[in-house]
Formats: sequence, C-alpha cells, structure tokens
Amino acid sequence: MRRDPRYDVLFEPVRIGPVVARNRFFQVPHCNGMGYRDPTALAAMRAVKAEGGWAVVCTEEVEIHPSAEITPFIELRLWDDRDIPAVARIAEAVHAHGALAGIELCDNGLNAPNHYSRMVPRGPSSLPIITFTADPVQARAMDKQDIADLRRRHRRAVRRAIEAGFDLVYVYAAHNLGILEHFLSRRYNHRSDEYGGSLENRVRLLREVIEDAKEEAGDAAAIAVRLSVGQFLGEGELTREEVEGVVEMLAELPDLWDFCLAGWEMDSRTSRFAEEGAQEEYLRGLRQRTTRPVVGVGRYTSPDAMVRLVREGLVDCIGAARPSIADPFLPRKIEEGRIEEIRECIGCNICVSGDFTMAPIRCTQNAAMGEEWRRGWHPERIRPKQSEARVLVVGAGPAGLECALWLGRRGHSVTLAEAGRDLGGRVLRESRLPGLSAWIRVRDWREGRLAQMPEVEIFRESRLEAGDVLEFGAAHVVLATGSRWRRDGVARFHTLPIPIEEAAGILTPDDLMEGKRPEGGPVLLYDDDHFYMGGVLAELLVREGFQVALVTPANEVSSWTRNTLEQHAIQARLLELGVELVTGRAVAAIAAEEVELVCIHTGRRSRREAASVVLVTARLPEDRLLRDLEARQAEWADRGVDTVTAIGDAEAPATIAHAVYAGRRFAEELGARMDRDAVPFRRELPELLPWQPR
Ligand code: ADP
Ligand code: SF4
Repeated sequence: MRRDPRYDVLFEPVRIGPVVARNRFFQVPHCNGMGYRDPTALAAMRAVKAEGGWAVVCTEEVEIHPSAEITPFIELRLWDDRDIPAVARIAEAVHAHGALAGIELCDNGLNAPNHYSRMVPRGPSSLPIITFTADPVQARAMDKQDIADLRRRHRRAVRRAIEAGFDLVYVYAAHNLGILEHFLSRRYNHRSDEYGGSLENRVRLLREVIEDAKEEAGDAAAIAVRLSVGQFLGEGELTREEVEGVVEMLAELPDLWDFCLAGWEMDSRTSRFAEEGAQEEYLRGLRQRTTRPVVGVGRYTSPDAMVRLVREGLVDCIGAARPSIADPFLPRKIEEGRIEEIRECIGCNICVSGDFTMAPIRCTQNAAMGEEWRRGWHPERIRPKQSEARVLVVGAGPAGLECALWLGRRGHSVTLAEAGRDLGGRVLRESRLPGLSAWIRVRDWREGRLAQMPEVEIFRESRLEAGDVLEFGAAHVVLATGSRWRRDGVARFHTLPIPIEEAAGILTPDDLMEGKRPEGGPVLLYDDDHFYMGGVLAELLVREGFQVALVTPANEVSSWTRNTLEQHAIQARLLELGVELVTGRAVAAIAAEEVELVCIHTGRRSRREAASVVLVTARLPEDRLLRDLEARQAEWADRGVDTVTAIGDAEAPATIAHAVYAGRRFAEELGARMDRDAVPFRRELPELLPWQPR
C-alpha cells in the first residue's frame, strides 16, 4: 500500500544545517533507564526507531563531565574518550537504517547532586540542588574559571560526539535539567557580573556554548538547541516575553530549535492531565522568529494532527518521544498507508517510570520496548512457530489479548475465550474512570489487529470452567483471567485482614467500576495501593457529589505516581476538588458508621465517621480455574493438554504494562527450551581493569 497523499508533506526532507533529514519525523531525546549500564541494549532500541522510519533518532541526555552528573539516574556519558565507543555504537546502529543520529549533551548544573563523583556541584548562584529527591547538597556559584571549564568541557564533548559519528549535537537548555537553562532565569541566576542581571547577560553563557559548538562542529554536524518555551517552576521563572527575547537574540545561531516545557513533568504530562497537542499554545509565535527548522512535541499519534501542525507553521519537524516508544514504526505505517496499525501511546508514563526506577525502559503499549537486544524482541515481528500446537487463551484483558496476538503472528492456531461481551478486561473498566479514557487504546489496537487474523478465533460471553477447558483439548492453555481487589484491608501496611463489622459499608474498586456507589454519609477511601487507582476513585466520587476523605499510610497521595511525573498534579487536583487528604494514617478497624485510624508514626488511634469505606488495597489473582485444572491434572494427557500457565494479573497482579509484557513473553517463549536457572536476558558487564591488591 502507498500513503495517503494528504500526508505527503510529512515525508518532505528537511535541511538541518549541514545535514538533511529524510522526512519530518523526529525522535527527540528521551531517557530510558539504560544509559551507560546497557549501551548495546540502548543502541538496539534506537536502531529499531530508525528502522521504523524516523528521520532523526536522538540519544537521551549525555553527561559531558563528572562535575555535573545525576546519579542515581542512569543516563549516557561522554566524560572522556573512553566513553566514545558506547555512544558510537548508537550512532552506527541508527545510521544502519538511514536515519540521522542526534546526541543531547548536558551539564546538569543545579540538577547534579554528584553523588557518584563527589565533586562540588556548580550553579549560576549558591543554591540547593533541585533534584526530585531534594538532596541535602548545595551548588557553589560558578566563578570565571568554572565558566571557562564548562565551555571547554562542552566543546570537548562536541568533538567526541562528532568523533562518535553523530550528525546532530544538542545544546540542552530545557526541562529545568541543565545548567544553561539555570543561567537563563532570575529564579536561579542571581549574579551581578556579565552573566547575570539583564536577559542579554543571562543568555550570554548559552550563546557562548552554542558558538563554541558551532565552531567545533563546522560542517561535520548540525547544532540543535533545546529550549523551554514555557516554564512552570515558580517565582523568577522565564516570562513569555523573555522566552521570545531569547529566541530572537539567538534566532539564527543554531541549525535547529527544539522547543519544550519545563519542568519535565509539564513536557511529558500524562493523558490524565493533558490532551494530545497540549504544548501547541506555547509554540505559537516562535517559528516566525527564526529561519531555522523548529521541532516540537505533543504526544502526537494522529497524522492529521501532524499535518495541521506543519501547515499552520508551528513546526517543521514532528517531535516525538512517547509516540515513538509506543510505536517505533509510526512513520513507516503512515508511509505505507497502514494508519490503523499505529499503536498509539496511551499517555500513561510507564516509560518514564523506567528511568525513575533506574530500570530499562518499558512501555504499556509496546512490550518489546527495552527488550530489543536483551531478549531479541521486535515491535513488529516475531519468529515463526516451532510446532503445530493449538493454544487456548482464557481471558481477553491486556495479557490475554497480547498473548493471542503474538501467538497468532507466530502462526499458531489460537482460541481466545472471554467471559464478558466486550474485550479488554481491566482496561475496559478502568478507561471509564476520570481521565483514563485514552487507556482503551490498549484494547483497541489489539482487538483491531486480531480482527484481521484468521489464526485467532475469539469467543465472547464464554466463561470457561475446568471441564470446558479440558474438553477443548488445546495443547497449551493460557490463563489470563485477571484479578479482583481485596475487601479485607490487606495490602502493604496490613498483611493480615483487619476487623470489619458485617454491617459496614465496604466497597472495592471493582464494585465502583461495576457501577455500585456508597450509600449516604461521608465516604472514607483508604489507599494502601499508592498508584493511580485511589486518587482516580476519589476524583470519581467527589465529582459525583460525595464527601470524600482519602486516607493513606503514605505521606502524600498516589505516592508511586512520582515515577510517572503525576504526583503533584494528582494532589493538586484532589485538593482543588475538595477531597480531604489524611496522610500517614492507616485504617485499623471498620465499624458500621465509624472507622478507627492508626497513625503510622506514633501508633496513636483516632476515630472518624464514615458511612462507606472504599478499600483500595491489594488484589488477589483470579486463579480458581488454575486450581481446578491443577486438581484434574490426571486428565490432561488424555485430553491432549500439555501445559497450563497463568499469566498477567492471574499470576501476580501488577500494572497493565506487566500484563501486556507477560502476554508477549508467553508467546515468545512457547516452544523455546528454557533453562530455569539461567539469566533470561543478555546484559553487559563492566570492563575490569588491572588491579594489584596492596
Ligand atoms: P490482565 O490484566 O492479566 O490481562 P484482566 O483482569 O484485565 O487481566 O482481564 C482478565 C479477563 O479475563 C477479564 O476480561 C475477564 O472477564 C476474563 N475472565 C476471567 N475468568 C474467565 C473465565 N473463566 N473464562 C473466560 N474469561 C475469563
Ligand atoms: Fe505511551 Fe505509556 Fe508507552 Fe509511555 S509507556 S510510550 S506513555 S503508552
């Protein structure tokens, strides 16, 4: 198939200084939790993007020197020449598929606690380090020697980047993560020398570093500047007028502008808090101030929106991080007229959580993300089946859908049985909750693909019992039957059931998702889950007019959502909506109209009135079918059943991303000889240098 001519404009080449991008699809730098620890895995991940048609594929931030490093985060490094081979491998992998390789050089400035190097952090002024973890470390105000050091180190990093083969080198002044941005605003720049005070002075260091980079690069590489054009940092942040001033002052200096927002949590807002294209208003009026090509992001997955963006003159290149993670083949699918095959990002930021937990990137929609080299998975392909075995998959939630899809793609004959009328399991239910509607894309993409696959037969309204499964007689039975929320208070604080009076009005998330509602009086929502569910349900109830108190043993609501960059936004929304937040307390016992709380610090008890209690605690695997089948194992051989395997939430409840991953893993591993004791993926080990013990 050929692409729709409406999208031709997206495939026009774009000149970026001395290099030419083959089309307008531009994978902007994004973190991935692999960095210097997993360089080959990282190169393979970037290579797949290039294979998928992106014209420019960039690295994440690359530390230029140990004087500004961000341990514990795992990013790339170009500290000295020894780091060149690792990053060169990325450039080479990207070039192999005809894309340009970009690299984002970074001095982390006030964002560098230097836990690893133990060098004294530096900033424009003497101020505390501004990391997410508020490290008890301050930066010293840079003197002229420091500024000279910074410029020289940045220059050397440019030289190393070019030596490593990169075509595009970023000067990074964005997301409130780099020193050049810290110099720009009065918020952090309190200097009285020629680098502080007026905007022109505050821009000086950025200008000098761009000039250095241009000079160093010559015609060997283009120089890009990434700038925050909307700041949400608090007092002293760059005003809009100042942003426009910066762009005007430096307009023609870089070869490309990449505009984004600061901090990172504003640039990578989840779909719960921002629509596709939410950044557009900040892009308006900037491209006119430069003749250089402009890149901007907005979680765009729709080619129509991309075309509009170009036609309206907001950008020249469509920047994407998350859409390229969820579907590395997005450009190729548009090019080949396969729009409906685009696996759209759901805006959940599970990808970001990889970086925050220092673990390799993962994606709810694309189970192969981060596993391209480790496990040899590909976002579009899988090796053919090794046997004619038929497979029965029970349950069409994210795990079952993914499993059936990839087994079908391997060529297996698959039957997918779902108890409900609609497919989707938990994503179907959860996507009806406030702010989560985009999550249905997990179901929609898979259902759409499965509809085209004769290998997979789907039976709806088919709740299977052990007898049905045995009668069916597939060689492999996959139980993707999901989980149920507990109603006994067990989770993290309580690992044993709490006393609950029979007359107490208890509701679980499943009850609320099934349409049940509290009866009368104030509602107490107890969140010992700490991810999104507690906050989302509090929002649901308060919007419906209930008086809601959210009680949690944590010191903030939805505390794990720090890893998805949402925690502040969630807490702000709940406060705005009038939810009472009670932190540092656990529910100890529940009576008919009253709840006993316990302070997690002092153990002191208190009582609160509550007509209903919503327990957002742990979940239990739906494993009855598994147990029933295990009890009848003697019958398996006669029925032709070889294996029965629970996957996803039915094995151990976790995130939707875990369930999708479990589905893919089963499909990948079916028929493979597995050594249960071997490390099940490839990894790289540090190079050992000679050592003489004293
Ligand atoms: P996961 O996240 O692991 O994919 P879900 O809870 O989203 O799990 O999905 C489980 C699905 O399995 C639900 O759609 C549920 O209706 C279905 N299901 C559970 N038990 C059975 C059964 N015995 N037969 C058929 N479908 C089942
Ligand atoms: Fe999008 Fe979620 Fe995948 Fe990140 S993890 S790319 S937000 S679908």
